[in-house]
Amino acid sequence: MSESQWSINMKMMRTLLTAALATALSFTATAVLAKDTVGIAMPTKSSSRWIADGENMVKQLKEAGYKTFLQYAEDDIPTQLSQVENMIVRGVDVLVIAAIDGTTLSSALKKAADAGIKVVAYDRLIVGSPHVDYYATFNNFQVGVLQAQGIESALGLDAGKGPFNIELFGGSPDDNNAYFFYDGAMSVLQPYIDAGKLNVVSGQTGMDKVSTLRWDGAVAQSRMDNLLSAHYSSKRIDAVLSPYDGLSIGILSSLKGVGYGSGNMPMPIISGQDAEIPSVKSILAGEQTATIFKDTRELARVTVGMVNALMTGSEPEINDTKTYDNGVKIVPSYLLKPVLVDISNWEDVLIGSGYYKRSQL
Ligand code: BGC
Repeated sequence: MSESQWSINMKMMRTLLTAALATALSFTATAVLAKDTVGIAMPTKSSSRWIADGENMVKQLKEAGYKTFLQYAEDDIPTQLSQVENMIVRGVDVLVIAAIDGTTLSSALKKAADAGIKVVAYDRLIVGSPHVDYYATFNNFQVGVLQAQGIESALGLDAGKGPFNIELFGGSPDDNNAYFFYDGAMSVLQPYIDAGKLNVVSGQTGMDKVSTLRWDGAVAQSRMDNLLSAHYSSKRIDAVLSPYDGLSIGILSSLKGVGYGSGNMPMPIISGQDAEIPSVKSILAGEQTATIFKDTRELARVTVGMVNALMTGSEPEINDTKTYDNGVKIVPSYLLKPVLVDISNWEDVLIGSGYYKRSQL
């Protein structure tokens, strides 16, 4: 074979292979899924809690005899939307969705309903759609209450100490939970603010001023940098309300940047949520004060119960039919109990329950 003939043959081969690959890929994208498949849409792998959620869901659904199709969207709204739409086209039987932005899924859920696919909102409420069958979550108001009670007792506010300086951080404004966390926390903190025992020196209160888009630690860090330079050059900050461990890490690094946590500048009291490993380590190192443990194994158990009920036409376990109004309907919910974790109980709660191994911490 001449050299040019060989190169023509190679080119043809490559073209054929590319075409075959494209067909295979488009087949994967549209291939119908097996019967009894649950599509699970998770927001991001950048936070370990959602990785644990995905793993627990797959494990427990498999144990219950279902097949699973799990996808993460790296906190990108269009990616999650197309993942959900793809799951609908491929014929999942039930969708379990932890929304990135709880307001953006209405048209996808309409398509799901038209195809007879049921939907469970996982941890985060999906708003503005009638097609949300159940909601599995934690008592989100109570999460905020516990975060603030941790600050209250660490500062000694409940023993009459004060006044103290505090700054407030909220979660992502497109996540319904963020408002519950904030309101829960303020139900404890506001009376101290009103009594002059807590000063929000920046004056920044309310979710419109303190929220943190996409729960991004870097955004919280730069807001903390600004607060410190604008309001604390001659004052000490005593506490920070942070709604999530990933934000607390950013806030802590901002505080360290101006000398807190060393010499005669003890670290302010700072809250968190999710008991993620870096933050538990931070608590053990005396930096972060507390976090909130939400047992994702329990959340998976409750969600699998809901999936099972939807698949078999039975009644799932529900303990709340009043709180979660999504703007169109009140979504029947199951609220699990969050637990405050600090240096006094981390072993009991996190190791004792088998959630983490000692070696991980
Ligand atoms: C979850 C929290 C989590 C936050 C950031 C919220 O919707 O309920 O557990 O800390 O999202 O991922």
